[in-house]
Parts: sequence; C-alpha cells; structure tokens
Amino acid sequence: MRIADIGGEFALIQRLCAHAPNAHQNLLAGIGDDAAVIKGIQADGSHLLVTTDMLVENSHFRCEWAAAEQIGIKSVVCNVSDIAAMGGTPTFMFVSLALAPETEVAWAESLYRGMGKACRRYGVTLAGGDTTHGAAVTISITLLGRVAPENLCLRSHARPGDLLCVTGPVGSAAAGLAMMSAGLVPPPLLKEKHLTPGCRLDVGPTIAPLAHAMIDISDGLAAEVNHICQQSKTGAEITAADIPIHPLAMEAARMTGNDPLTFALSGGEDFELLFSIAPKDRQQLERRGIDIVVVGKVTDAAEGIFLRLPDGKREKLTGGYNHFS
Ligand code: ADP
Ligand code: MG
Repeated sequence: MRIADIGGEFALIQRLCAHAPNAHQNLLAGIGDDAAVIKGIQADGSHLLVTTDMLVENSHFRCEWAAAEQIGIKSVVCNVSDIAAMGGTPTFMFVSLALAPETEVAWAESLYRGMGKACRRYGVTLAGGDTTHGAAVTISITLLGRVAPENLCLRSHARPGDLLCVTGPVGSAAAGLAMMSAGLVPPPLLKEKHLTPGCRLDVGPTIAPLAHAMIDISDGLAAEVNHICQQSKTGAEITAADIPIHPLAMEAARMTGNDPLTFALSGGEDFELLFSIAPKDRQQLERRGIDIVVVGKVTDAAEGIFLRLPDGKREKLTGGYNHFS
C-alpha cells in the first residue's frame, strides 16, 4: 500500500501518530492544529506554542528560481504564520539543516541572512538547531511562541452561525508560481507573494480575542475551510463571488490558462488568515481598523461543506494541497 492509497498526508499522519503517546493533561492541542499548545508553563500564565515546518529542495523551492536569501525569508515566514494563526506571537527558533557537501558556504550564509531579515521583522530569536549532510538541501524550522489563554484560537472552535473571514486576497502566490512555471515573468507583486511572502502577524493578535477558530492559509482556502470544519464538527458554505482575488492574479490566470478560483481554493502559500467570528463581533473588528473579507459562514455538520457558485449552484468544497496525493 502506498501513501496515496490511504488518502495522502493527513491520513498518514493520523496512522503514524497512533504509535506514540500523543495526549497529556498539559497538551491543550497537539496533532491537528497549526501549532501545539502547551498549558501555562510560562511565568506570565501564557501558553507555550510550538510549530515546525520543513522545506525540501526541488519539492518546496528550486535554487534556479529562488535566491538563498528568499528561501531563508520564506522558511521563517511559514512558521511565524502558524503561530499567528493560533492568536500568538513568536519567540525562539531552532533550525535543522541538511546541506549537500557541494553547497557553497556563501549560499548557506545568504539563506541565514534571509532568515535573519524575517526574524528581525517578526521579533524572533535564533536559539539553536542541527546541521548535517543530505542529498537534497532540507531546512526544518521549529518555532516557539506564546499566547494568552484568552487569545487562543483553535481550529476546533468554530460554531454554526459564525462568519468565515479572510484577512486579504488569496491565490496570488499560486498565480506567481503558475507564471514562472509557464516561463513568464510575473509582475513584482505576484513574484513577491510566491518567493518572499509576508504573513499576518500584524493583525493576528488583534483578531484573536474576537475570533473563534483560526488557521493560516498555507494549503489553499478549500483545504483550510475543511480543516476547520473537520475539527469543529461543523459544515460551511463559501460564496465563490466573495473570495478576494487580486486583479493581477486574475490576469495571471488568463495568461496561463488557469481558473483564478483554483488559485484561490487550491493554490496555497497565501499566509493570510482564515477565521470564524460571531456576526455581532464583526463590526468591533472593523472598528479596530482590521480589513477583513467575509467569504462564507459556518453551518451545522449535517449541511456539509459547500461552495456557492455565481450561478447559484452549489458544489462540494474540495481542493487544496495534500503532499503525496
Ligand atoms: P500546517 O499546514 O499548519 O503546517 P500540517 O498540515 O503540516 O500543518 O500538520 C497538521 C498537523 O499534523 C499538525 O498538528 C502537525 O504538528 C501534525 N504533524 C504533521 N506531521 C507529523 C508527523 N510526522 N508526526 C507527528 N505529527 C505531525
Ligand atoms: Mg498552518
């Protein structure tokens, strides 16, 4: 049996994790969220957050397309994004590196210069790691963070009746990648979204006290809505016409023969936040100066997870990145 036969990445994770102890009274959220939440072991009463993400050469980045510094920036940002999605702020980082023996020292230094830039931007301190050799350059980052208990946003906290909101346009990173894959030069914004994205730590902590569930959009909007619904035991309806897609991403879709909605639903690496919020709290968030776009609503589980198309028809909300499938 191959990994694809059992349903890919997420089915594999479940199967593997059953072999090890994975529950503890102080583990408030373990496998299945953007970061693990470990109860109140910090002096100020906040919970410890731990997340980890790995990038592998030729699977997640290509040295012909991305400079080492850009890879360094992105490797930190995707971790900071997971901490932001919990409602927290990042603190300390550990970097495990596998480098090929022929890797240039200058390349590795540029990688770290990029990491350093992102660390300064998001207030992260490098605290350790591990270095070894391997056939493909592999960068595995573990990032710690903290969250005040009242700000913690789990994927499992959505409630029927909540609005589902995003913090900005989705599909731009996929649009940039599609143009590069087609041998086209993307406009600077799309190139930046793909190669050196930022994440929404600027708004996460402000949204967190009002939001119920939150997740970062790393695998595409469709996958993230499904993750929230699965963990919260709810349904959802997303309105296709309300999904914010940047005009440049629309244009990129035309140029590459893609559907812009596919970029938004399945592209991923947007690093915007998707969250659920009670309708009564929406205005409060807007009054705090946070730009949000309502893309749908949380429903009862029995209603299923659907996409409402512009012609009024509904289809199952599918798509999203899944390694191995
Ligand atoms: P994200 O997209 O937010 O980075 P992932 O989809 O990578 O999250 O992971 C989903 C959940 O599964 C997370 O809680 C993560 O810690 C857990 N997980 C992923 N791979 C493994 C593994 N090999 N062993 C244990 N837990 C894992
Ligand atoms: Mg995540």
